[in-house]
Amino acid sequence: MGKAIRLSGLIILLATLLLPAGLRAQQMRPHSMLVLDQSDRRGPFYYQVFVGLRDAVSAHGHAPTTVYTESLDLNRFGGEAYQDSFQRFLEVKYRDRPIGVVVVVGAAALELALRWRPQLWPDAPIVFALVEEADFKRLRPPGYVTGGILDLKFKDAVSAARAVVPNLKTVVLVGAEWERQVIFRNWKDQAAAGIPGVDIIEIVGRPMPDIVARVAALPDHSAIVYTGLYSDGKGNYYPPSDALAFVVVKANRPIVVPAETFLEPGGVGGYVLVPSLIGAEAAQRALRILDGEAPENLPPSVVGAVKPIFNWRQMERWEVSEASLPQGSEIRFREPGFLERYRWRAVALATAVLVQSLLIAFLLHERHMRRKAEVEASNQQSQLAHINRQATAGELSSSIAHELNQPLGSILTNAETAELILASPTPDLQEVREIISDIKRDDLRASEVIRRMRSLLKRAPFEKKEIDLNQIMREAFDFLKLQASSRNVAIYLQTSPQTLRVKGDPVQLQQVILNLAVNSMDAMAKMPYGRTIIGRTEVNGEASAVISISDSGPGIPQDRLNEIFDPFFTTKEQGMGIGLSIARTIILAHSGQIWAENQSGGGAVFHLSLPLAA
Ligand code: ADP
Repeated sequence: MGKAIRLSGLIILLATLLLPAGLRAQQMRPHSMLVLDQSDRRGPFYYQVFVGLRDAVSAHGHAPTTVYTESLDLNRFGGEAYQDSFQRFLEVKYRDRPIGVVVVVGAAALELALRWRPQLWPDAPIVFALVEEADFKRLRPPGYVTGGILDLKFKDAVSAARAVVPNLKTVVLVGAEWERQVIFRNWKDQAAAGIPGVDIIEIVGRPMPDIVARVAALPDHSAIVYTGLYSDGKGNYYPPSDALAFVVVKANRPIVVPAETFLEPGGVGGYVLVPSLIGAEAAQRALRILDGEAPENLPPSVVGAVKPIFNWRQMERWEVSEASLPQGSEIRFREPGFLERYRWRAVALATAVLVQSLLIAFLLHERHMRRKAEVEASNQQSQLAHINRQATAGELSSSIAHELNQPLGSILTNAETAELILASPTPDLQEVREIISDIKRDDLRASEVIRRMRSLLKRAPFEKKEIDLNQIMREAFDFLKLQASSRNVAIYLQTSPQTLRVKGDPVQLQQVILNLAVNSMDAMAKMPYGRTIIGRTEVNGEASAVISISDSGPGIPQDRLNEIFDPFFTTKEQGMGIGLSIARTIILAHSGQIWAENQSGGGAVFHLSLPLAA
């Protein structure tokens, strides 16, 4: 007996030893990833890299993955002693936590991870993100290392500067001393090599007072290219997007930037790195490895995370025309800016009779529209009371007001704006025409909402036709863009490649999407940055389509995940608690399902599943 056991043990041992080493490691690979970030993840750029990574991990449904994160903070801390102590710290902290794959963010983190690997994670492949081609070539990582290589060159910043400044003669590079720079360090050599047709001035590694004094007095036909400042030279450190704000206030020339997170503090734009895409790409590689692919089969390649994006506010400031931007450019923060532009003239020259009468005519029109909506709304109220008595649709009674609020609110804003334009000596009638057509559109929307709600309440069959869910999502997201940008929320939409035909009522489904997205914005209102909404559509098997809307907000307390759909459940001071209950009513009427979850990395995600049309 004892012999038999020993013999079978021996056979298993032999079989294990005979398996190729790579296969053994893969089979044993724990579903966990350690993210080593070379920076301090609280800065907006690195935070967005992390958000992209986290979302990609949560979207990867079939195997839960544990994500650990460590910020090395190498901008502020360095030296052998620090690195050794960090290594010991990782050794102790992760003693009982096996790591399946190590994800490093930045070349400096890659360098350390390569050095630490033999002691800390001898079997774990390494996936890198945010590593430039030159660093990649210098480090020449072995086969167990893969990742996305950044391809953003100094000459790209110069060509963006050419689009922004006609007859560009000088490019002024502003940034921390090259050795301290983490992403754009290699631009030093590229700048030294020169770019035909432009002079290059470097304001690099200077104290902040010096920088702001110099950028205030730059010559004509010049543009600033900002690569990031991390400290004021006196021991105060800040995220480079905060430092940019100091430069923006003083600069007398536009500032071309190479990162998405530099747009909002006042960069005019350029070819920018989109950090969430960088994080998502790294996560996808890491997940494929955890799912069993060998890193050798996923060779490093250039990651498509650079996009031409420009800041409309700064384009206005520097009189940059949209036509001069590179093809395919995206413009952010577009807003109706005429309010600011015309205010003083409006005050000074509000006497023109023509303007006055136009104004009055316009107000009457607006009043008429409002009346009409009010009358219809009150008709609805009485109908509703009737249905209430039948105790079936009590929860819907407040919804009309809720859904009407948005169009009526924008009618009011538009009317006020037009009022101000018309008060100017040379009112831009084209703009007024556009506003009136917006008002008409909003009014139609309001009536449409009422019509739909009425049909629902009457329990008449609502309009059900074959529609494309991707199209519905795109329209709803287009509609949300403006509100999102005014609330500092980045919204992204990923639609499935195939068309998703379902039978349904387009207006009602869009209401549901809008309700969910607005809830997400509300939930993130208190976050200082990193507000993100991601919408997705996908096919689920053969029979259904799934829409999901996720955010980077605080999420929903676990014990309330079902309660939130109850009528009148709200945690908001001004909330009515009916948005989600209406959403559920609509989705159930479409024979679908709606449910909410919290994402492993934080934030809530709402899913809608709808049957595909046969
Ligand atoms: P209201 O918006 O008027 O409060 P809703 O039915 O739309 O009513 O939402 C009910 C509650 O659900 C909200 O008050 C909030 O507590 C919670 N909720 C909804 N969406 C989210 C989200 N994306 N993140 C966190 N909490 C949410």
